[in-house]
Amino acid sequence: MIYERKTPLFTKRYEVEQRESQFYAKLQCPWCETKVDVPIELPKFEAWIRKELLIQEAMPGLSADLRETFLSGNCATCWRAMFNEGPK
Ligand SMILES: [Zn+2]
Repeated sequence: MIYERKTPLFTKRYEVEQRESQFYAKLQCPWCETKVDVPIELPKFEAWIRKELLIQEAMPGLSADLRETFLSGNCATCWRAMFNEGPK
């Protein structure tokens, strides 16, 4: 299943896959192509896609790094490098 979520800056596509009873959002960093599967609760994810829930409400268990990856698509490593927040 493919979901699209529009923001003022860009539209992000999410591929969602079900394995057994768990749904995963399949993310791939556009810079280094690192793949990350993030376990999601589908109803909450869909509510977030519709902007009815904040990301923190839809995915309360997500680490800050994964949340950023989820929102921007960039993995933590590339994201830090872009914003110069990595090890100096
Ligand atoms: Zn990356």
